[in-house]
This record gives sequence, structure tokens and C-alpha cells, in this order.
Amino acid sequence: MEPRRKTRRINVGNVSVGADAPISVQSMTNTNTADAIATVAQINALAVAGCEIVRVAVPDLEAAKALKRIKDGINIPLIADVHFDWRLAIAALEAGVDGLRLNPGNIGDEDRIKVVVAEASARRVPIRIGVNAGSVEKDILARYGHPTKEALVESALRHVHILEDMGFFDIKISIKASSVPLTIESYTLLSGKVDYPLHVGVTEAGTLFSGAIKSAVGIGTLLARGIGDTLRVSITGDPVDEVRVGWQILKSLELRRRGVNVISCPTCGRIKFDCAAVATEVEKRLSYVTEPVNVAIMGCVVNGPGEAREADVGIAGGDGNGLIYLKGEVLRKVAEKDMVDALVEEVEAFIERKKRR
Ligand code: SF4
Repeated sequence: MEPRRKTRRINVGNVSVGADAPISVQSMTNTNTADAIATVAQINALAVAGCEIVRVAVPDLEAAKALKRIKDGINIPLIADVHFDWRLAIAALEAGVDGLRLNPGNIGDEDRIKVVVAEASARRVPIRIGVNAGSVEKDILARYGHPTKEALVESALRHVHILEDMGFFDIKISIKASSVPLTIESYTLLSGKVDYPLHVGVTEAGTLFSGAIKSAVGIGTLLARGIGDTLRVSITGDPVDEVRVGWQILKSLELRRRGVNVISCPTCGRIKFDCAAVATEVEKRLSYVTEPVNVAIMGCVVNGPGEAREADVGIAGGDGNGLIYLKGEVLRKVAEKDMVDALVEEVEAFIERKKRR
């Protein structure tokens, strides 16, 4: 792991991004933003899963009008995603959003941009510049032939300079591609040129399975290089999965801790109980937990006792039964049918004791 690169700190509502602030997990709703009730419900479900900043698309005035009601119904910072129309950005700011995602070069002429920037500045609302490989300006593309890392960086810096020239520096930047290598190379190039916080992600990454893997490889590689201050996993499907995958990436790199970290063996011919079913069920039943806790579910005596002993709570399976461990000590022996209940019970008791301490 390389040390985290030094970036400036900005504030998106009450969440800091950049410098030494924790790398935050973001997501984006896929409800119709104009439907405030559905959007609030989805945002609150995302927040329960660990989403720390949420973005909503604001494609028209109807969506912009719903922002105030959305903001009132949620308790995580809200970012409005605006393209092409400066009036939507103004409407979003007036509704009290905590951040804007827009590319100043595409919301109107200079005077219009100035109005938006002045309003964002007065309200201390940061702006994320988000360049995607699919939307690089034509003149830049003509020079590079196709969206190379240099083209992406040039496009991002063009928008950055527009804001800087107007005295606005409350900026974060994303520079995403659906190609993992291009994403990694582009962010790496960009991070050598600016000290604004970077929002990292692989765009259009696909459905849950491929999206999770592409994101883990792309975002994970960047974070391991010390690049990235906030992340969004992009998945075609339920955004709650984006949050779960995002956290898993951060937990895998030991950058943050949250909830249950399941250590379970891959199973092999020695297994004498349904380890996969137990691990899946335990993970599901404890998905509400936010307190960091390591839970090992191991198949047999080869690695089981060792891993189970190292975890906060663990089980080392035997022939239709298992030994439950708490902080390295054997607690009791349970039958296979009672394993899930017993583990969940012990983990919950462990968390309760930890909270009381
Ligand atoms: Fe196989 Fe035992 Fe290792 Fe699980 S812990 S993979 S059952 S040897």
C-alpha cells in the first residue's frame, strides 16, 4: 500500500472529503427524482447500508423542485447531478443541496456559469467535475483520436480552470471510464497534476457480478496507490449493492472498518457441514451491524481453530457440529442446526459488551 496522496479538504454537507478525512462511500439513486417519496425511501435504505453521500439526477425542473422535500427527508449530504442547464443548478442550490456535480463547460455561456459559481460559493457548496470517457469534448477527441488518459485529463482540467478563473476552488474531480486500465491510468495521471480531492470509480461497470469485480480492481488499485478520497461503485441494479461493494473494497484494503467482516474458508473435501449456507446466513442476519467485528466460519480442524481463534467470534466446524470461539477461547460446542443462531447470538452479545466498555 502506498501512502495516501495529499489532497485539499472540502466539505460536502457534514462529510469531509480529501486530506485525511476517511474515504467516503457514495451512491446514486435510480428512482425518478421528481418522486420525492420514492427517492427519500431509497436514500434512507442506502444510508442504512452505509452510504455517506448520495447523488440524485436532476434532469428537469420537476426533479429540481423535489430536492427540498428530498433534503428534508434524509440525513446524509445530497448532491445534485446537473447537465447542460444552469437554471437547474441554481434551482438545486436554492433547494439547499450540499454539492453539485456538473461540468461548468457544458451548462451555459460564461455569464451563466458565473451566476452558478457565485451562488455555490456564497452557499459554500462544492462542485464535482465529472469527466467520463464517453463525454470528452469533440475538439479534444479530435486531437487525441479517442478518449485516452491525456484526453480525459485535459477535459477535466479545462473545467477545473473555468472554476479556478472564477476564484472557485471547492472542487473535487472524477475522471471515469468503463475500461479499468484507462480509469487507473487517467486517475494516476490526474493525481500528479492537481491536489483536489478525487472521487474514484469505474463507470458503466455492469451488473452486480462484473460491476463489483471491475470496481474492486479499478478502485482497489487506485486506493492501494494512495489515490482516491471518496468512491462510488457503479452497478446496473440496486444501488444498495453499490454501497455494500464500496465498503467491501475499503474493508478489504483495511482502509476503513464497518460491520461484520466474514472470514470463511473456501471449503474442500474435508468439509462435514454446510459451511456456505452457515456463512451466507450469518452474513445476512448480521448485515445491520455497523460496529466492526471479525467473524470466522471455518470448515474443519486444518485451518479452522487458528482462524476462529484470531477472529472476535468464530466457529471451527467438525462433523455435523462446531466449536464456537470468543476471542480465542472455546465457548461451547453446537450442532450444525444451531450454528447460525449461536453465532449470531454470540456476535450480538460481543457487540453489546464492546459498546458498554
Ligand atoms: Fe478445507 Fe478445512 Fe480449509 Fe475449509 S478449513 S478449506 S474445510 S481444509
